Amino acid sequence: MESFIVTFTKSFTQQEAIPDEGIKAAIEIMKSGRLHRYNVNPGEKSLTDQLELAFSEYMGVDNCLACASCGYALHIALKALGIKEGDKVLCNAFTLAPVPGAIDNAGGIPVLVDIDDQLCIDLDDLENKARLSGAKYLLLSHMRGHISDMDRVMEICKNFNLLLIEDCAHTMGAKWNDRMSGSFGDVACFSTQTYKHMNSGEGGLLITPHSDVITKAIIYSGSYMLYDKHYAAPDKQAFDAVKYTTPNYSGRMDNLRAAVLLPQLELLDKKCRAWNDRYYAMSDIFKASNNIVLIARNTKEKFVASSIQFFIPSLSSARFPLLIKECEAQGVSIKWFGDSEPNGYTSKYDSWHYLNDKTSLETTERILSTLIDIRIPLTFTIEDCITVAKIINKQVELAVAKV
Ligand SMILES: *Cc1c(COP(=O)(O)O)cnc(C)c1O
Repeated sequence: MESFIVTFTKSFTQQEAIPDEGIKAAIEIMKSGRLHRYNVNPGEKSLTDQLELAFSEYMGVDNCLACASCGYALHIALKALGIKEGDKVLCNAFTLAPVPGAIDNAGGIPVLVDIDDQLCIDLDDLENKARLSGAKYLLLSHMRGHISDMDRVMEICKNFNLLLIEDCAHTMGAKWNDRMSGSFGDVACFSTQTYKHMNSGEGGLLITPHSDVITKAIIYSGSYMLYDKHYAAPDKQAFDAVKYTTPNYSGRMDNLRAAVLLPQLELLDKKCRAWNDRYYAMSDIFKASNNIVLIARNTKEKFVASSIQFFIPSLSSARFPLLIKECEAQGVSIKWFGDSEPNGYTSKYDSWHYLNDKTSLETTERILSTLIDIRIPLTFTIEDCITVAKIINKQVELAVAKV
């Protein structure tokens, strides 16, 4: 009973402070007034250049572009891969609103693919829709950090000539089969928005192994004719082929954001371990519940659990709003993906009416209908996580038992 009366008082949206080093670098760059990434002396590398070089090294890829957001990066990734008005783009139905938004912004038409019980794209449905749609692109979101069987994804991409864009907003620092998430695709995009794995308020990182993609992406991002000031990029001559034909969609990153991100990259792996420690503390408690079903994970998945998800199969849809309210009353913030109305950051594919996609996604519906999501901020201690999980267990038990 003790865990039941307790009220949790920490905020689920409270992030850790920016490391002192980052604050110091941010103050220095503000004092210098040189916030624009191209405001450098000859031969000098701006903080944005340094961030791109550090991230490309971290990811083991030659080319990196820092830009305004992950959604923006996804947009110019599609453009740089050559998308044309009306081209179809396969994407998982379970993703965040900026993903279909980026496809729409690039003139593409999203083809929604079902998800499976592991919250990954349903690979049979992917194969089927790749065949039926004739799409040339797959924008794959590793949603909530759940990584698909990348061996099979790559096989499907090969068989259907799909260009792969990885949305790694939730998998920065994660791996599949000892290979970095984001190193599989023709392009991968990461977010440095406050609630992702590194925090600069807003921001995005785009990587690609292809020099003809990065040259276009750099010019799209608003390099003017200063592309020779990029270092995680090919030589100047590589831009000759695209410099007259690529529009400037102005969406650069600035040195202030790069200043706060650089020291965070050094801490990333440590933070990933801290998230997983908290995840296991919570999942161990959830395992004791008869009503909670955790999401199965492939052994090849080295995930980063900055959030945790589970199903409550025995709870009817009508009961979920009350469960959320009861948890909230005890200071515990949980989200339900089955809500038919978009709420806060959470919206379901069927509320994106502009897509005009009337395909029924029964499997996705069934899966989302009992899916709960909880953020794991690193400002929570392991003890905090245990308290939160105990409160949830108790409230789920009460909700299921209620007649
Ligand atoms: C946050 C997020 C994005 C977009 O990131 P922004 O940097 O906010 O544009 C894309 N995909 C997923 C799955 C996300 O969670």
